[in-house]
Amino acid sequence: YLTRLRAAEPRVRSFLHVTEEENVFRAAEEVDRKIERNEEVGLLAGVLVGVKDNICTADMPSTAGSRVLEGYKPPFDATAVRKVRELGGILVGKTNLDEFGMGSTTEGSAFQVTANPWDESCVPGGSSGGSAAAVSARQCVVSLGSDTGGSVRQPASFCGVVGLKPTYGRVSRYGLVAYASSLDVIGCFGTSVADAGVLLHAISGHDTFDATSSKREVPDFTSLFTSSNNLKPRPLQGLRVGIIRETLEDGVDAAVISSIRAAASHLEDLGCSVTEVSLPSFSLGLPAYYVLASSESSSNLSRYDGVRYGQQVAADELTSLYGGSRARGFGAEVKRRILMGTYALSAGYYDAYYKRAQQVRTLVKKSFKAALDENDILISPAAPSAAYKIGEKKNDPLAMYAGDIMTVSIHLSVNVNLAGLPALVLPCGFAEGGRAGLPIGLQMIGPAFDEVWNKFSA
Ligand code: GLN
Repeated sequence: YLTRLRAAEPRVRSFLHVTEEENVFRAAEEVDRKIERNEEVGLLAGVLVGVKDNICTADMPSTAGSRVLEGYKPPFDATAVRKVRELGGILVGKTNLDEFGMGSTTEGSAFQVTANPWDESCVPGGSSGGSAAAVSARQCVVSLGSDTGGSVRQPASFCGVVGLKPTYGRVSRYGLVAYASSLDVIGCFGTSVADAGVLLHAISGHDTFDATSSKREVPDFTSLFTSSNNLKPRPLQGLRVGIIRETLEDGVDAAVISSIRAAASHLEDLGCSVTEVSLPSFSLGLPAYYVLASSESSSNLSRYDGVRYGQQVAADELTSLYGGSRARGFGAEVKRRILMGTYALSAGYYDAYYKRAQQVRTLVKKSFKAALDENDILISPAAPSAAYKIGEKKNDPLAMYAGDIMTVSIHLSVNVNLAGLPALVLPCGFAEGGRAGLPIGLQMIGPAFDEVWNKFSA
């Protein structure tokens, strides 16, 4: 893995910070010694893990892809990172992302552009593009990302790997740099569902440092993959699959539609019943998401004032110190979000934007609930197209936002009861024409806290 990491890095640029090889070897030798001495080793013993750079790590920089946090080394590990280390996982580095997770291509990083390992002229998706590319290029075994509106699932789709966004509350957000707190979730990348499941098992559970983390018992996400039953086909008989009609309409690439339909008929062959379901409010999720996410982010980012973190401009009075540090530290997309969010929350416009977005949120949540009362899982594409060229949408924010249509809505189901829905993306086909050969991802959405279909675990 380290050889591949080094070899691929100049072209793919997945990492903002790479662990010294010496330290990786030392950690690996420690695991070896334990095994030799017949001591117990953890679930992730010796597994090389990449961590998105908006997740805090005590011994490495954590920039969230922003100049505002350049040089910042947190004095603590995020809970998810602490658990990875306690179980023997070895951190290979911090992966690139769109600044504060705001973007869909990783071009919004203040430091570098990451390339898609399948075609280096294309984007890896985002915002967890570094984590997805690193797993796709086999620079690490698994990686952690974060998903506020698709940032694990869409890059997994673009990079042809598995991306798992757990239920909101399943994994502690302590140490995850906040973008939109009611939507942010830490998620997992792997080259197989089993790997993503093992990593999820490692990081799940209640945490007294995050009041929104759930006290529900964590099922054994690894039990499905133990060596004895690893290769047994699972009984899919009776699984009710709903295919979301609105995600296979105009504006979605033909190859994406045919891949999803092919996956659906494959599921039918395996014993599932597949029916089409309609979620009429599905497309309303996109504008509602951008109003809500921008509003929350405008509030969350107020802490970067040049005093507590990162770099400070010289100024002779406080407001120009704040203003100057923020003007220099934030990139264009982040400023756009702060402006949109502040506008939506301002007294005169609150009812027209923020309140209406909350109302849409309720609508979307209800329609998902109804669809999941009738079906065990819902399926859709993870994105309307395969990966596109670097630069293609960089200067067209609305086109970039529109590409999030498949993934943003399910976050809106996080509401007062803080449930949210889990979703898994896995490769299901390849694009055609100009994007020939680039992977396409299938998204499977389940009920809250049902990452492992309960009939499987029974
Ligand atoms: N692309 C979406 C946004 O920019 C989602 C990002 C994310 O999930 N962090 O908000």
